[in-house]
Amino acid sequence: MTRTGPQHYPGAHRDHWYQDDFGGDRMEVNVVVLHTTEGRSLPGYQGGASAPNLTAVPDLAARKLTWYQHFDIDISSRALRNRPGGVQTNTLNVCQVELVGTCDPELHSKWRTGGKAHVYWPKAPAWALLGVARFLAWAHEEHDVPLRGPALWPAYPKSYGNGAGQRMSGARWNDFKGVCGHMHVPENDHGDPGAIDFDELIRLAKAAVQG
Ligand SMILES: [Zn+2]
Repeated sequence: MTRTGPQHYPGAHRDHWYQDDFGGDRMEVNVVVLHTTEGRSLPGYQGGASAPNLTAVPDLAARKLTWYQHFDIDISSRALRNRPGGVQTNTLNVCQVELVGTCDPELHSKWRTGGKAHVYWPKAPAWALLGVARFLAWAHEEHDVPLRGPALWPAYPKSYGNGAGQRMSGARWNDFKGVCGHMHVPENDHGDPGAIDFDELIRLAKAAVQG
């Protein structure tokens, strides 16, 4: 497959690179899948075995996202479950992004009580959402990923499994092009990134494209 467009997100660090160890399938990306890590720092991803294409780490002091890239944009990564048979997940032209922080209101309140600074993505500060939006704008301009996605972005834990009826069928997933969450991908149970403000995210991404 051709792999059109730039393969490295400008400014992303490549000192946690896993493609040499894990290879991956060549793709032509038309989907971005968003995750939240449910941790407060860059994960080790079991040495890369469960790594996404990119991780965005909030720099709370500088009020910006620090990006790490682990695989080329048009190479499959590894943060989705793929069951035998059924549809393809990681390898179906998907670029995966892990956002460091949580979508879980319970973990959010535990961290807050413990004085552990973090981003709670459903109530993300404007700079954090803007950082994600800029990436989506880039993915749109350079890789033609449509700036649209599913209507339902239910809150965790309702989003776990298919608690809010948000998860796509295999057929819908096979046809999907755009931006979705781990909680929308078939053959998967995880409920991340929960109730992230998707309308605002897309609005900011479109504004970044025009800007
Ligand atoms: Zn996930």
